[in-house]
Amino acid sequence: MQEINDRFELLLEKVKKANLLADENIIRSAFDYACGHHEGQLRKDGSPFVSHPLATAEIVADLGMDTDSIAAALLHDCIEDTGATFEEIKKLFGRAVADIVEAVTKLTRVPYTTKEEEQIENLRKMFLAMAKDIRVIIIKIADRLHNMRTINYQSEKKQREKAFETMEIYAPLAHRLGMARIKCELEDLALQCLDPVGYREITEELIARAQTHENFLIHIKERIGVRLKDAGIEAHIDGRVKHIYSIYRKMYNQHKAMYEIYDLYAVRVIVKEMADCYNVMGFIHDLYKPIPGRFKDYISTPKPNMYQSLHTTVIGREGMPFEVQIRTWDMHHMAEYGIAAHWKYKEGITGALGLEEKLEWVRRLLEAQQDTEAEDFIRALKIDMFADEVFVFTPKGDVINLPAGATVIDFAYAIHSAVGNRMVGAKVNSRIANYDYKLQSGDIVEIMTSNASHGPSRDWVMQAKTSEARNKIKQWFKRERRDENVARGKADLEAEMKKHGIPHGVLGNEEVLAGVLKRTSFLSLSDLYATIGFGGMTATRAANRVREEYLKTREKDQTDKDVLEKHAAKPHRPRTSVTGIIVEGIDNCLVKFSRCCSPVPGDDITGFITKGYGVSIHRKDCTNVVAARRHHDGEGRWVNVSWADEITTAFEASLEISARDRDGLVMDIARILSDIKIGIRSMNARALGDGYAAVSLIFDVRDVTQLKTVTNKLSQIQGVVEIMRRTGL
Ligand code: MN
Repeated sequence: MQEINDRFELLLEKVKKANLLADENIIRSAFDYACGHHEGQLRKDGSPFVSHPLATAEIVADLGMDTDSIAAALLHDCIEDTGATFEEIKKLFGRAVADIVEAVTKLTRVPYTTKEEEQIENLRKMFLAMAKDIRVIIIKIADRLHNMRTINYQSEKKQREKAFETMEIYAPLAHRLGMARIKCELEDLALQCLDPVGYREITEELIARAQTHENFLIHIKERIGVRLKDAGIEAHIDGRVKHIYSIYRKMYNQHKAMYEIYDLYAVRVIVKEMADCYNVMGFIHDLYKPIPGRFKDYISTPKPNMYQSLHTTVIGREGMPFEVQIRTWDMHHMAEYGIAAHWKYKEGITGALGLEEKLEWVRRLLEAQQDTEAEDFIRALKIDMFADEVFVFTPKGDVINLPAGATVIDFAYAIHSAVGNRMVGAKVNSRIANYDYKLQSGDIVEIMTSNASHGPSRDWVMQAKTSEARNKIKQWFKRERRDENVARGKADLEAEMKKHGIPHGVLGNEEVLAGVLKRTSFLSLSDLYATIGFGGMTATRAANRVREEYLKTREKDQTDKDVLEKHAAKPHRPRTSVTGIIVEGIDNCLVKFSRCCSPVPGDDITGFITKGYGVSIHRKDCTNVVAARRHHDGEGRWVNVSWADEITTAFEASLEISARDRDGLVMDIARILSDIKIGIRSMNARALGDGYAAVSLIFDVRDVTQLKTVTNKLSQIQGVVEIMRRTGL
């Protein structure tokens, strides 16, 4: 503990020296508070826990961050690991510190698992969105840096997890914020966990060649130094081998051995004035032969992360290429510390800047930059600045990206319309939440669904923020209402027909149906039902039309019989037919396959002579046929029909599948049909309630045998309970 106290005093000295505005009291009391709260806690390596927040604060202080950041760094694990609360920290250290500590805590709780690239990008954005204040990210990066430096004490599994997360989240964030030094260290530490063999190979080779590298760099530094001195340019020159992960990446990407790597070395020339940068460039090109196309002016066009320097690659002794980076001290600090350097710079000059002013600067700078990489960067930071998006988690840890103001309803429909339509409740961060709860970045949202759900409520349209959710809700109402209305209309009409003594099933008579539809101007019987159900037409009026049409057909029965007899007199009975149907006693008559039962070759069939539509073909077991016969409807108009011997056309068959509702049910059906080369004409799925769904299927088949094959295949699909051919309406 004594050692820790000494380290703290050293930190305080450094902070006071670097920043005249630093508030020693706040930093000291934050340290005392952290010591008190972490008392008795130990790190994995056996040291007192408080050594970790102290180390984090040291990194943050080295970056030149302000008092609030240093205090928050000292306190960053208090809410998570000790009894400290937001309120208490706010009371003791002020709102700003408390906000930062709370945001860091939230980020600590973000679950992380290795994911696809898109998810990782969302996670990075989420970090920025949740942070709200860029200082939160800087502290979080410092926290991670210290944890990575001491990762050896963790289990191997944990090491790999943290290393992945570091590589995928923290190093890219550090890069975006221009914190090159920390980014490189994070990458090297992570690589050491992820590929210890590869890491060791590179370090061993670097050590083996250390003397060569050293000599090479010394020679270059001397040569450049002398030349610049002669020219009267004051410059600091240093040279180094690039960091291990960048070598590793180049070897991996370019499939090269280390000695084949193009630019292993980087020499830095740091000068006072920007004008000198270009002069130095001239001298260097004079001393060494430049490689064409390798000169980059990041001074006139800074990198998206604010990096500025001149880069050139030249050929040194023995044909060895090396990169030279030329920059001013300001640019150098920006390159090393990125956004943190700016923090320091601004605060030093103008005193305590408001957060808004600081963000304003970043915003301006970002907007001034173009090119695609810059756009990504701007987008990433804008989330922080402009807060127009929220990022929330599914219970599985997937990140869902929604516009700011999105509610639980938007989330549910973003997962799947079936989830939204069956939502009966929602939990946000394990607590029951209202449907209109506005989601916050980092929320973990769980939607509770039930098959007993009666579907969305009308209010949801207003409570949803995304048009996607709104459209899905509206769609549901359109579809669901229709089914309801059809059912109600059918019941009403049938009751009314019964009252008037009209035989049940008379609408199965095609002629009656055609007449009724024509007179009521509907395209289908279900449209008629829907309108009755909706109240657009009274059941009485519809029933009257049905009765009139029904009576009409009865009057004409006699005439039809005559027609039939006349035709029956003809002796010729061909066994082929373009339609595939042979009608007893009638040659080449118009044939129509009824849609109510969709007969296919091999079915037992019967024909009904309609007026004007020719003979309509039904299956003998069609409910309409059975009902009509029972009621003696259309007596004398039924005619024997049979299938022709040679049939070349395909026939429309329809199946009704009942199955336990599950994801992928419809996909499975479609896949099986496509596997056996069956063309689907239409497929309609709807929920039956109680976890069951019905799928109506219309497709082309040759005959009953093929239809049986299809039925067999479909019945093997997981969850399928029953498959029926459609008969009747
Ligand atoms: Mn920590």
